[in-house]
Amino acid sequence: MKSWTSVDIPVLAAGRKFPELKLSDTASQGIHTVKKKSTHRMYVCGITPYDSTHLGHAATYLTFDLINRYLRACGSTVNYVQNITDIDDPLLERANRDGIDWQELAQQQIDLFRGDMVALRVIPPTHYIGAVEAIPLVVEAVNELQLRESIYPVDADLYFAIEKDPQFGKRSHLSLKEMLSIFSERGGDPLRPGKQNPLDCLVWMNRRPNEPGWESSLGVGRPGWHIECTAIALKYLNPLETDETLIDIQGGGSDLIFPHHEMCAAQAHVMTGKELATSYVHTGMIGLDGEKMSKSRGNLVFVSRLVAAGVDPMVIRWALMSNHYRLDRMWSDEVLNKAHSEISVVKNAFQMSHVAPTEHLVQQLSEAISNDLDTPAALAAIISWSEETMNGSSGGDLKELRNTLDALLGLLL
Ligand code: ZN
Repeated sequence: MKSWTSVDIPVLAAGRKFPELKLSDTASQGIHTVKKKSTHRMYVCGITPYDSTHLGHAATYLTFDLINRYLRACGSTVNYVQNITDIDDPLLERANRDGIDWQELAQQQIDLFRGDMVALRVIPPTHYIGAVEAIPLVVEAVNELQLRESIYPVDADLYFAIEKDPQFGKRSHLSLKEMLSIFSERGGDPLRPGKQNPLDCLVWMNRRPNEPGWESSLGVGRPGWHIECTAIALKYLNPLETDETLIDIQGGGSDLIFPHHEMCAAQAHVMTGKELATSYVHTGMIGLDGEKMSKSRGNLVFVSRLVAAGVDPMVIRWALMSNHYRLDRMWSDEVLNKAHSEISVVKNAFQMSHVAPTEHLVQQLSEAISNDLDTPAALAAIISWSEETMNGSSGGDLKELRNTLDALLGLLL
């Protein structure tokens, strides 16, 4: 799948000290230090292309963009893989509802998503992989799991047996009751007769009438959702034999913790005997005006519509960074207006012929980002510097500051 246009990242002055990145890890429920290394492997779950890009999506990809940017600034390469679930039930349901061909709907939404990512200055993934193009990888992954006797049929569909992973449940920390309830809310089928365990997940769906299917050694059908990400991550992130875990970071919104990321980790563990990720990083949900933002409520706010209404994408980026990524938070016009006025303060400071000393601010920014992406602290430091500048303080290097804001925060002001 074609990724989106790359983003120029300025090179920062040599000799800068970058503290090691610390990130919250869902599995250990603590903070992990991301050890410095030459190449980091990061997998972030992509969209299902039927309602892109709402602010929840934007907040998630922006969060992992901050990680990507920080690791690069530290001198590392980041192999960043993202999928796009371009065949799944919700996409087919939406296409049916709207009387549109599912491929056409997917293509429109993927184009929209790419445009939104470019506008928000999100660095594109190294590999951007669609579920349809990954079908041969999914078949290989299911074959691997079959060798480990963790696959069984229900009618002509294939299921993954979760009990084959002794670690199952250790990444998401939910009770069985919670797992069952969330599983059925998020695409699972705990009540289907013939399953060995209600939580076992579908890995291959035999072709249904009037639905697309692809020929394979597993029959004519299509991949289940979780195995798609497992297969793509293991192929394109190319884990090292010598590493203890397969990849460094597995990420997405907190609604993916269960079942999606638990299932991916369980499948990868059964296939390889290794834990999938060193850190499982999850972003909070975005609500609107006091309510949860959701498709069913019909209150999604889309990046493309805000931009079409004249909102500067950098204001959206600033607004999304004004709260911590892990918090569930509310979006409102007030949040957007506040971001707009704060950016105006910074832009006014940038117009001054002399600016306040920048060395300390530059240090504060890398310290804030390294501290579990503390963007509220980073933005507060920028505002405080802007006020000092407006009060006549001088001696700073504006070019170096602008480069830092761009390289670390993706802000081109
Ligand atoms: Zn995924």
